[in-house]
Amino acid sequence: MPIELFTVGGYEEAGRNMSAINVDGEIVILDMGWDLGKLLLLPQNTDTHKLTTGELIEKDVFPDDNFLIKYRSNVKAIILSHAHLDHISAVPRMAPPYKNAPVIGTPFTIEVLKTIIKDQVGRIPNRLLTLNPGSKYEISKNITLEFVYVTHSTLQCVIIALHTPYGIILYANDWKFDNYPVIGQKTDIKRLKQMGKEGVLGLISCCLNVEKEQKTHSEIIVTDMLKDILFGVENTNNAIIATTFASKIDRIKTLIQFAERMGRKPILLGSSMEKYAKAAEACNLVDITSKAEIYARRAQVNKILREVNNKRDEYLLIVTGHQGEQGAVLDRLSKKETPFTLQKNDQILFCSSIIPAPVNQANRAELENRLRRFRPRIFKDVHVSGHGSKEDHRDLMTMVKPQNFIPCHGSVKMLANSISLAYDFDMKLGKDAHILQNGNRLPLE
Ligand SMILES: [Zn+2]
Ligand SMILES: [Zn+2]
Repeated sequence: MPIELFTVGGYEEAGRNMSAINVDGEIVILDMGWDLGKLLLLPQNTDTHKLTTGELIEKDVFPDDNFLIKYRSNVKAIILSHAHLDHISAVPRMAPPYKNAPVIGTPFTIEVLKTIIKDQVGRIPNRLLTLNPGSKYEISKNITLEFVYVTHSTLQCVIIALHTPYGIILYANDWKFDNYPVIGQKTDIKRLKQMGKEGVLGLISCCLNVEKEQKTHSEIIVTDMLKDILFGVENTNNAIIATTFASKIDRIKTLIQFAERMGRKPILLGSSMEKYAKAAEACNLVDITSKAEIYARRAQVNKILREVNNKRDEYLLIVTGHQGEQGAVLDRLSKKETPFTLQKNDQILFCSSIIPAPVNQANRAELENRLRRFRPRIFKDVHVSGHGSKEDHRDLMTMVKPQNFIPCHGSVKMLANSISLAYDFDMKLGKDAHILQNGNRLPLE
């Protein structure tokens, strides 16, 4: 088989993304993430550090690479699309068997990965290589890697392009087309169109939002939403607590700027807030620490919250916990586990969506119920998605004109939704549009 796709994880769920491309016996792995929803389903008090990689695979937290591991000496590289945990957080435990393969990502992705490796295992034998968006790297005589800059919901995300003798393979997992990005440039549309002319053999693309018949809007819309709430709603004597994805650095930057304009001191609370903010600063992508204080450890968080409790209208808190995760700052606030007491009319802004898994929906509902006991004002859905909708997918397909279309990053139902789009391009299910499951091998050509 000259060229084929291995679907390892992420083809039956929105999580644990991992694929591999085999080009004449040389294999590259694309992403290596976990499924947070499955992790949260483990019994409480499970120490995941004590579970073996095999056990995490068995519990569907990690992708199952058992059928790939027998080819481990053929694996030439592990390439990461972006810094979200569903794409990188299995690397510390799963990359070492492929120890001759370097792990390649953009500087920000690798910076975040380093902290995850340190937290989970200390170090790994694989080399860590950084490649800037817009750059190429020769993996072997037959395979050249190119990173194409794409907008999504964290920094330095790329569409992975593999140039092979059989054509280009594009791995677009995750992406949106943000025409007014708050940080960084727009997607490199020009390069994608060029590749469409050069010949794209296969497009593997995140289908999470493909059933939505719309265009996913720019982050600039959230900037306007926040302006409308923060400057348009009475908040003179109230605490303001915003919660968003720690990896959503552009939105955190906006919140910090607005806090300054309001005369409030921005404070970031939570260990993942520190992880992503420091990684962004280490790559010179943003300046956070000169404008906002960050507290990660529980004792530090409690100490500053004691101070905020006495001067509640002098701060704007940016905290973890929008999914209702146990132990996150918002969870602890809702359970009165900190020295800060929520009061009537305090404002809580959910700048997030619920990651589609039943456990998150349940956790979030419980969190809101606990919060409402304090009678705060809750502002939900101050958010736009980082994933392209159907009309964005149509644009991408028009640009790159793939010979084969392979949706990924979703349940079977979500993957099936993208076939209506493939039909619009005269593709046929099983011929050039492929609904796959985890553990499949698809010959391409
Ligand atoms: Zn993802
Ligand atoms: Zn993502």
